[in-house]
Amino acid sequence: MQRRQFVQAAGAGLAAAAVASPAVAQANPEVKWRLTSSFPKSLDTIYGGAEIMAKQVAELTDGKFQIQVFAAGEIVPGLQALDAVQNGTVEACHTVSYYYVGKDPTFAIASAVPFGLNARQQNSWLLQGGGNELFAEFYKKYNLVGVPCGNTGTQMGGWFRKEIKSVADMNGLKMRIGGIAGQVLQKLGSVPQQIAGGDIYPALEKGTIDAAEWVGPYDDEKLGFGKVAPFYYYPGWWEGGPTVHAMFNVEKFNALPKAYQAALINAAAYANTYMQARYDMLNPTSLKRLVGQGVQLRPFPQDVMEASLKASNELYAEISAKNADFKKIIEAMIAYRNDQYLWWQVAEYTYDSFMIRNRPRG
Ligand code: CA
Repeated sequence: MQRRQFVQAAGAGLAAAAVASPAVAQANPEVKWRLTSSFPKSLDTIYGGAEIMAKQVAELTDGKFQIQVFAAGEIVPGLQALDAVQNGTVEACHTVSYYYVGKDPTFAIASAVPFGLNARQQNSWLLQGGGNELFAEFYKKYNLVGVPCGNTGTQMGGWFRKEIKSVADMNGLKMRIGGIAGQVLQKLGSVPQQIAGGDIYPALEKGTIDAAEWVGPYDDEKLGFGKVAPFYYYPGWWEGGPTVHAMFNVEKFNALPKAYQAALINAAAYANTYMQARYDMLNPTSLKRLVGQGVQLRPFPQDVMEASLKASNELYAEISAKNADFKKIIEAMIAYRNDQYLWWQVAEYTYDSFMIRNRPRG
């Protein structure tokens, strides 16, 4: 190309860029959102999921779309995060859908219900098995767009002052546990208690409660429950693989440029994987430390598991009789679960159980 032609071509390019730039600027506006978390900063892994999402969104949009993350209580209390998004106080929240069973028990199925899916199956159901579509329809009634944004993996069954030898020991047991799991335990004669995180330790120490569930080794270790309730039970059958959700106000979400919507969805998907990976990295070290401190690991007796499964199925039938959304979604989840375990028992389970048996040999 001759120099003169090049200058002309470059000039034409510049002119085109100059004409195009106002449209480009409009397509990438500066947007500032506030996100209220349901979690305190001390739960760094679960709280961190929202920060990871916000950081990814900023990087994907060249810093144009900023989401400021607020800990529980800074704007609204942790359990009102959804309401704050629904009524437009904030644009977004990071929360667990089962906190809102008081509005409708259907909320729980999006995160975890007793004897629901494990973390990988939950992702499969939500992302590929129609779960997200069912919840898109349900969340719309609450002005929300909800996307998976974290998972803890199967939780622990919690801390018990005394050993549980059989299902009879569940009768009269005062346990800190919420939502649908609490209703299931009531059927076993237990007395569920709603107690905020910071108040669990003194209640266990005084014996006001006999047991408490929280999350898993990494989060539980920080609260020191082992000193006052040394029996650490597993598995937390009410949280086989709970999904943490990012929720957005539907009007605010729809008003975003398509590229920003995609940035949000992709950032949430990244945080979804990140949180599980981080818990899986942190839990083994914490578990080793806890056992080293004298914590007694115990599996729930088989009759406790079986009575709890039976009670859960009874409760689902009772709720389904009067709640069409719950019925439709729990039936979809259970059908998915049945096919998942048909498959898991073949390769996954055989591989995992072989590897677990052989781990001590290195
Ligand atoms: Ca829990």
